[in-house]
Amino acid sequence: MFEKILIANRGEIALRIQRACRELGIKTVVVHSEADREAKYVKLADESVCIGPPPSAQSYLNIPSIISAAEVTDAEAIHPGYGFLAENADFAEKVEKSGFVFIGPHPENIRLMGDKVSAKDAMRKAGIPVVAGSDGALPDDSDEVLRIARAIKYPVIIKAAGGGGGRGMRVVHTEAALLPAVALTRSEAQGAFGNPTLYIEKYLEHPRHIEVQVLADAHRNAIYLGERDCSMQRRHQKVIEEAPAPDISARQRAKIGERCVEACRKINYRGAGTFEFLYEDDEFHFIEMNTRIQVEHPVTELVSGIDIVQQQIRIAAGEKLSIRQRDVELRGHAIECRINAEDPFNFTPSPGRITSYHPPGGPGIRVDSHVYQGYTVPPYYDSMVAKVIAYGATRDQAIRRMRVALSEMVVQGIQTNIPLHQDLLNDTRFLRGGTSIHYLEQKLAQLAKRTAGG
Ligand code: ADP
Repeated sequence: MFEKILIANRGEIALRIQRACRELGIKTVVVHSEADREAKYVKLADESVCIGPPPSAQSYLNIPSIISAAEVTDAEAIHPGYGFLAENADFAEKVEKSGFVFIGPHPENIRLMGDKVSAKDAMRKAGIPVVAGSDGALPDDSDEVLRIARAIKYPVIIKAAGGGGGRGMRVVHTEAALLPAVALTRSEAQGAFGNPTLYIEKYLEHPRHIEVQVLADAHRNAIYLGERDCSMQRRHQKVIEEAPAPDISARQRAKIGERCVEACRKINYRGAGTFEFLYEDDEFHFIEMNTRIQVEHPVTELVSGIDIVQQQIRIAAGEKLSIRQRDVELRGHAIECRINAEDPFNFTPSPGRITSYHPPGGPGIRVDSHVYQGYTVPPYYDSMVAKVIAYGATRDQAIRRMRVALSEMVVQGIQTNIPLHQDLLNDTRFLRGGTSIHYLEQKLAQLAKRTAGG
């Protein structure tokens, strides 16, 4: 096992990784920007290294500084967390070339999955059902593009091969709108991701977002830890996640889980990973694979009893998975609410000083957060300040515990989206389970109309 790991991230995930390391007896080095100097998790780490000014481009994305920090502190491995450099194949490669272990998949796997066109192609070949769409990248020829979309049938969604974080997508409902939309998305993709490659998919009108968590070691063993439902989204960003997904049978779970595990073996995948699907009319359609730990991993940890971050570290250290598929027992139900520093209904970011903070507690409640009373939420990064996760024997109990938790939670000095979560936890469609990915947007549009009308 490693003696020292460098954490190349910030916020709640930097603390989460640190906790996993401490439990394993591993020392930690945290790198941070000037804006995060006073953060609690920076003080809690065994060592910390300031790697640059607040903007991420000069700190959390500064590869040479991060590698030098690992060198001067004698760390053996680097955990990238999520976001920032977590899915940057060049970073993973440089980490390994510099003699450190990258806690994640092989760089070639990250590269394969980072290009959504090659990812879909590889998954189709590995036996995973994918969303109907163009075979590979869109050609330049307009007639050909029109022909492809006509064959898929409208509505279609144009997507950037290099896209991520819900950006680089455009829905098209009519043939007349297709070519201008392709041109616009192409120039946006070039600007935002440095890659103009596009592809088209059938735009599914009432799908759910269901994803499968996998763990694979370097010895060709792979297991799945069931699925999560992350359909409650705004602007393609997840707001609430839960495990298991409502109304997915044990048979469906095993069938899709086994396919994912088989695909991991075929591409020689290593580490934790997530296969994301759109689920509509009882069918799974692959959209992408995330080659890192995800924000919503705690819901799976609570229902499986498996510490996914520790498993990532063990796998990176070369250990064989000690859990076999038949040992994976999913029990109860877990729900996660992402608490963001933002206006709950118009979503304007709300950075600033937290003047009063009381996290919730009690049976079945887990709070993953790096904030505290007096902490200043910097304006430079993601607005998530906490994840509240509720576990119960049933979905209903998890929801009731979450309602109690959010009613106890106090965050003052900044605005948070707690009121939106409280609204959703009493929403009849959410309570029934299985809402589509468009539900929250539709609900928010209705609320906005009512506010404007009243
Ligand atoms: P990103 O990498 O930016 O997260 P994804 O391909 O995972 O992009 O898609 C993000 C979200 O966009 C999905 O969860 C879903 O809400 C929506 N989406 C993507 N593809 C489709 C599609 N073919 N039909 C309908 N919605 C889609």
